[in-house]
Amino acid sequence: MNEHTHVLVVGGGPAGSTAATLLAREGFQVILLERDQHPREHIGESLLPSILNVLDLIGAREKAEAHGFVKKWGGYLEWGEDTFEINFGDPAEPDQGYGFQVIRSEFDHLLIQHAETQGVDVRQNVRAAEVLFTDGRATSVRWTDTRDATRTGEISFDYLIDASGRAGLMATKYLGGRRYNEGFRNIAAYSYWTGTKQPKSGPPGAIQVAAVTDGWLWAIPLHDGTLSVGVVAHKQSFQARRDGGRTIEQVYADALAESPLVSDLIEHGTRVRPIQVEQDFSYICEESAGPGYFIAGDAASFLDPLLSTGVHLATFSATLASAGVSSILRGELAEQEVAEYYRGAYQTAYIRFLVLVSSLYLNYRGKKSLFWEAHEMSREDVGDGEVIKAFWNVVSGLEDLGDADSGASALVFSEMRRLIDVYFAKDSGRDDAWLATLPEDERRQVLDEVKPLVAPNEYALSEETALNGFYVRTTPHLALVRVGEQAAAVER
Ligand SMILES: Cc1cc2nc3c(=O)[nH]c(=O)nc-3n(C[C@H](O)[C@H](O)[C@H](O)COP(=O)(O)OP(=O)(O)OC[C@H]3O[C@@H](n4cnc5c(N)ncnc54)[C@H](O)[C@@H]3O)c2cc1C
Repeated sequence: MNEHTHVLVVGGGPAGSTAATLLAREGFQVILLERDQHPREHIGESLLPSILNVLDLIGAREKAEAHGFVKKWGGYLEWGEDTFEINFGDPAEPDQGYGFQVIRSEFDHLLIQHAETQGVDVRQNVRAAEVLFTDGRATSVRWTDTRDATRTGEISFDYLIDASGRAGLMATKYLGGRRYNEGFRNIAAYSYWTGTKQPKSGPPGAIQVAAVTDGWLWAIPLHDGTLSVGVVAHKQSFQARRDGGRTIEQVYADALAESPLVSDLIEHGTRVRPIQVEQDFSYICEESAGPGYFIAGDAASFLDPLLSTGVHLATFSATLASAGVSSILRGELAEQEVAEYYRGAYQTAYIRFLVLVSSLYLNYRGKKSLFWEAHEMSREDVGDGEVIKAFWNVVSGLEDLGDADSGASALVFSEMRRLIDVYFAKDSGRDDAWLATLPEDERRQVLDEVKPLVAPNEYALSEETALNGFYVRTTPHLALVRVGEQAAAVER
């Protein structure tokens, strides 16, 4: 069976459902292929407050609120000798400033069902098996029914959004793979507990994070009364323990026992699921957009889960990609311009979180807490006068990063060095006071480049929060708009 659609989305996780819904709501024909059948299990339960923006954008806020997920008002970290309490918002103002702790099978199911109600042609148990190219341009996908391999077909499209998660259809098969970040070659082992104490540290619904000798632990309260408890450790140390004859269960139990915070929570609890393991989860794919395609979410890049950024990056990139596709299909922007922008914006969004995660890892063992400052900055929407100070705080936290010349750390450093060379060479006298003396357009140029690296929680939904000079506008239609320009207000 051969057919055609405006947009083919591969993958029905948060990235795929978000992109598909946004485009279908604009009146484009969208087919979404998901190889599994929802509800399907997935790791990644702790969502940042930016999820509220996403849910509002796709019109699913009410459904998510009604579902009863735990509201996450922040986090609590026991990190070396430091403890941090992170407050996203004020529970007395109940409409904003929180994320959710979600059971992902339920959350992802809700999103894909919502996509269907918004006009997306959702096909589950269908695997995108192969992408076909015409003169270097992605033009169609061959699919296979995962329950009946004799059922196959081909769908041609104007645009492909690859949101296939870590399976990474485009990256692993056609773009020469991914660049792994050696410093973050971690392993996670996790399970679920009942009969535990409810976390009391930090704001209501807070994720609990505790550093242990070789890594860190998470404890996340879920709305079915279970507690998700996981350990993240470097692959080598994890392996060394396994080589010493320890089972996964023992390594997991040893790690939990190291933290008084987590031990106390699970003291009278029972582990109710087998331990699951995930590994090698920090990478970036160089080509996140090209002729006929955009890659969103984990399919493009994945960062260590320390700051719970996965679903944010997935839905954020899906929003940028779908706004870009919308603008191209309406003839407002050229494909090459959008693809170039998308690659750069994705890298910036990824790097700025990488910088924060790196800072946090570096500052383990009680050094001055850059993480806390960085977080404060992001929450307070960095005032212009504070930007350069903030930038230097982040840079100085990276100075002694061990593997600075390899993997994604090198990416951070090269970006930092570029910015330093361009704007902030040592003894150049360029500080906040200097910034204030610049003409408005020059000042904006500096801020556009530097600010995204230090203010990671913004969502590029307005001129003020633009990322790399563009932002997403939703009325009168979804569009990617260059700062200072109004997109043509044409209806399709
Ligand atoms: C240990 C660990 C802890 C984490 N903790 C958090 C956290 O607390 N908070 C957070 O925000 N993130 C967390 N994450 C990250 C989070 O899981 C991901 O970033 C997020 O799920 C990405 O969403 P996605 O839509 O890009 O991909 P996915 O959610 O993986 O969805 C991809 C979908 O594509 C489908 N698919 C794959 N290949 C094909 C194909 N060929 N054809 C059709 N369908 C296909 C898959 O079945 C899947 O449903 C964590 C990750 C790990 C490893």
